[in-house]
Amino acid sequence: MAAVKKSLPRRQFDVVVVGAGGAGLRCSLQLAQAGLSVAVLSKVFPTRSHTVAAQGGVSASLGNMSEDHWQWHMYDTVKGSDWLGDQDAIEFMVREAPNAVYELEHFGMPFDRNPDGTIYQRPFGGHTSHFGEKPVQRACAAADRTGHAMLHTLYQRNVAARTQFFVEWMALDLLRNNAGDVLGVTAMEMETGEIFVLEAKHTVLATGGAGRIFAATTNAFINTGDGLGMAARAGIPLQDMEFWQFHPTGVAGAGVLITEGVRGEGGYLLNKDGERFMERYAPQLKDLAPRDFVSRSMDQEIKEGRGCGDGSYVQLKLDHLGAETIMKRLPSIREIAIKFANIDPIKDPIPVVPTLHYQMGGIPANYHGQVVTQVNGVEKIVNGLYAIGECAATSVHGANRLGTNSLLDLIVFGRSAGNFIVSQHPEREHAHQELPDTDIEASLDRVNRLESRTSGEKTHDVINRMRDTMQSHCGVFRKMDILQEGERMVADLVPQFDNIYYADKSKVFNTARIEALEAANMIEVARATVKSAVNRLESRGAHALDEYPERDDENWLKHTLWFADNRLEYKPVRMQPLTAESIPPKPRTF
Ligand SMILES: Cc1cc2nc3c(=O)[nH]c(=O)nc-3n(C[C@H](O)[C@H](O)[C@H](O)COP(=O)(O)OP(=O)(O)OC[C@H]3O[C@@H](n4cnc5c(N)ncnc54)[C@H](O)[C@@H]3O)c2cc1C
Repeated sequence: MAAVKKSLPRRQFDVVVVGAGGAGLRCSLQLAQAGLSVAVLSKVFPTRSHTVAAQGGVSASLGNMSEDHWQWHMYDTVKGSDWLGDQDAIEFMVREAPNAVYELEHFGMPFDRNPDGTIYQRPFGGHTSHFGEKPVQRACAAADRTGHAMLHTLYQRNVAARTQFFVEWMALDLLRNNAGDVLGVTAMEMETGEIFVLEAKHTVLATGGAGRIFAATTNAFINTGDGLGMAARAGIPLQDMEFWQFHPTGVAGAGVLITEGVRGEGGYLLNKDGERFMERYAPQLKDLAPRDFVSRSMDQEIKEGRGCGDGSYVQLKLDHLGAETIMKRLPSIREIAIKFANIDPIKDPIPVVPTLHYQMGGIPANYHGQVVTQVNGVEKIVNGLYAIGECAATSVHGANRLGTNSLLDLIVFGRSAGNFIVSQHPEREHAHQELPDTDIEASLDRVNRLESRTSGEKTHDVINRMRDTMQSHCGVFRKMDILQEGERMVADLVPQFDNIYYADKSKVFNTARIEALEAANMIEVARATVKSAVNRLESRGAHALDEYPERDDENWLKHTLWFADNRLEYKPVRMQPLTAESIPPKPRTF
């Protein structure tokens, strides 16, 4: 096996960052500017990462347009999370928010402006003033292309800082020493199909979400949960995977997102009777209640026969905003509605349905970005490994994320992980540690098994079976018998995923091979999701279980940890903020 070690080409870096979305790029910038050698890997050109699709905004209590305070932002985030968010990390995020946004502004990010020159801010779901009283204007926006503006700004800064990009490279597995410390990754250069060992003193996972495990999603094709699969295979648990956010307004039948910014600007939802039904469900915040709440209300309307058209969707009305506002603040939304629904929103309402959008769970990490596992019930830092952005459960979003808090999480924790690594680096400045062959061999075996199979299941068939199962068995409302059936169906799919076969064995840009490798990550995420969901016997945030309609803080104010051997453990929610007073659980009404 020494031959293996010799035969694979190797590269060494201070830091390998897997992922070039907002989180990865904010982190790498911090590292490159500090003079560390940084390799950023991405399956696609960096500015095609899913962050580019973010529309509505990034939250920060700047108070440019109405009074605002970080304490209000903190309260909203804790309440939005249905008390499952860790309050130390939440305080850290909301207090850092204004600085993180001003920093982007100084980097040249083209935010929309108020007449006085300050950054334009719009209202967004669940963001309020005076601890829940009324909507506040907190979402800093660049029209409805905020993620686009952010990602390009960060990319350009990285180019200036001489970050090394490995474009169209796919990370495969984590590499560890015998103590479990992470020392780098195996990765495939997609163009040649060649596999490399990338050694690193610090490895950062910033691989984004896994929304593609569902059939109808707003997520990009590359959002296949690779970082989660890599962590799970290395024995690291996945946290709170039962919590998936359905965004209220995906274009019916197409899945493409219509930003909540539409409702922030004054748009609202209608049922077939032309009734603005959210007034009934959330008398105070109405259409700007948090997403889990609005999605369930829409589902209820549809179930009770008040859906529009064929009864399967509701409508999003915005024509009353006027052509000028729509063209200025929501130009991409208009384009999307025309292209995907054949509707011009200046004249007519857009047909919308709740659509899978975001994973609240992920790789457990603290607010320095360090990955934290659990051994015999005790938390343990995984040396050398960090997780940031949507692939991480930091956990600021808990059981339900507020809109615009994700872009914020990327820049705050990308930066803090970068700073933390820089602060740790002198200690690890010595040579790279000796890397045992075990994980390299296991990773190569995995690829070789796929390559050598001469018959079996077609990749897209098994992936589609998984997607349909997740969609029909793990949706907006959950019922125990259906969830249990979903768990059995996913378990039945595992051997099929282990038997994936593709005919094209060529090395150069072999997308069949890449899809099969992604599938291996997706099935881990699906397994984690159904197992975690079936076992949480309460309703909290995005997990709404028919048989247990209430939140149960006595038994369930705790994080789920799923391990790849299909074992569950739990750990307490961190209720103690850094300096603020703890926000105790209370009923969640809007
Ligand atoms: C349509 C849409 C609109 C949204 N709008 C908003 C909004 O307005 N405000 C807000 O706060 N949030 C919004 N969100 C959520 C937010 O955009 C995402 O959560 C966030 O952008 C994720 O960023 P990230 O850096 O974690 O990952 P991503 O931007 O998804 O990037 C992941 C990166 O990892 C790379 N990668 C993955 N696997 C591998 C691998 N195996 N090897 C190498 N590279 C790999 C990819 O190539 C990519 O570069 C929106 C999401 C969507 C889908």
